[in-house]
Amino acid sequence: MPLDLSRRDFMRTAAAGLGGTVLGAFGFGEIEAAHAALIRPYKLARMVETRNTCPYCSVACGIIMYAPEPKPGEKRQIMHIEGDPDHPTNRGTLCPKGAALLDFVRAPTRLVRPRYRGPGESAFKEVSWEWALDRIARLMKDDRDRNFIAKNKSGITVNRWVSTGFLAASASTNETALLTYKVVRSAGMVVFDNQARV
Ligand code: SF4
Repeated sequence: MPLDLSRRDFMRTAAAGLGGTVLGAFGFGEIEAAHAALIRPYKLARMVETRNTCPYCSVACGIIMYAPEPKPGEKRQIMHIEGDPDHPTNRGTLCPKGAALLDFVRAPTRLVRPRYRGPGESAFKEVSWEWALDRIARLMKDDRDRNFIAKNKSGITVNRWVSTGFLAASASTNETALLTYKVVRSAGMVVFDNQARV
């Protein structure tokens, strides 16, 4: 009977069941083999996997984040991140930046909430996502109302909004990219770019 096994499923099964034996057959010393046999099943078989995209560059490599099930009342903590073997872009590989993503996730200096510096102020202050999104929407609407060009000098309808630009993220799915494109273009925005130029 044909087996429908993804590379990731295969790795998980092999790691959980045969890790120590296989590594030993490949010539690892006893200590390394025992160490690997202990760690790999723990990493791949006992943790919750979440697929995501590396946030750094426009290659947008697929990653898998591993976290143990949290105890009641605890937050899930990511313990390990590696390349997604089933992802068509990177097939499990990561560059050094991507391989160090765990440091980025855990960095105490990482921004996890928006910050705002008002006109004339010297320092940023933390604001809520609701406040930040409302302010962005307000500023965009006001700017569009002031500068929208419905017709050019010849009277031809152009519906252009050229005084605001939009930079989209590269680590988006095709669906998100399509929706972003439709929102931006339907607002008449002309200045639109993407880190990945898609
Ligand atoms: S792993 Fe490296 S190449 Fe891949 S998206 Fe991240 S930074 Fe770019």
